[in-house]
Amino acid sequence: MGASKVLLTKKQIQSRVRELGQSITYDYAGHELVVVGILTGSFIFLADLVRTIDVPVVIDFMSLSSYGALTESSGEVRILKDLEMPVEGKNVLVVEDIVDTGLTLTYVVEVLKKRRPQSLKVCVLLDKPSRRKTAFVPDYCGFVIPDEFVVGYGLDYAGKYRNLPDIRILELKKAKGQGGDE
Ligand code: 5GP
Ligand code: MG
Ligand code: MG
Repeated sequence: MGASKVLLTKKQIQSRVRELGQSITYDYAGHELVVVGILTGSFIFLADLVRTIDVPVVIDFMSLSSYGALTESSGEVRILKDLEMPVEGKNVLVVEDIVDTGLTLTYVVEVLKKRRPQSLKVCVLLDKPSRRKTAFVPDYCGFVIPDEFVVGYGLDYAGKYRNLPDIRILELKKAKGQGGDE
């Protein structure tokens, strides 16, 4: 890949994920949790996180697409793959890699609320609050990061770099404005 700088090491991520799992375990003690992963970016975070959660967990996935640039969502969100299971009456925890403008998660929360879960919370690994376009605030957040485009640990650029074990800042000199997946 082009010039890149490590923002969060494997070790930093691992220890923060463990803390998140402990908070979630504490908050949901005695309850069953439906963890909803937003594909594809959340898959590594979700895999690590659920193994640190010590309450009964059911896992389901949703895939969304937003029209727009590769490094930014446009706000027009569409469900490409919906949940397999109904969430009515369940304690739902949405797990996402990163919240940027907030448009994607605002949409997800709106859609899932209509299905009348018992509770609905959102856990993100990364938050870029400086770019928010909605009032969205995550219930659990791993790291607040600056306004940089990051890859690794599940996060991609044009489908690549998801397998990097740490999180890196990608230099986007001539890469802005291309289309891509979430
Ligand atoms: P939002 O709707 O909050 O603007 O965007 C959320 C989605 O945009 C994320 O799920 C992710 O797919 C993508 N995104 C936003 N910022 C970044 C970033 O820094 N790196 C990567 N790889 N994806 C990002
Ligand atoms: Mg995503
Ligand atoms: Mg992406």
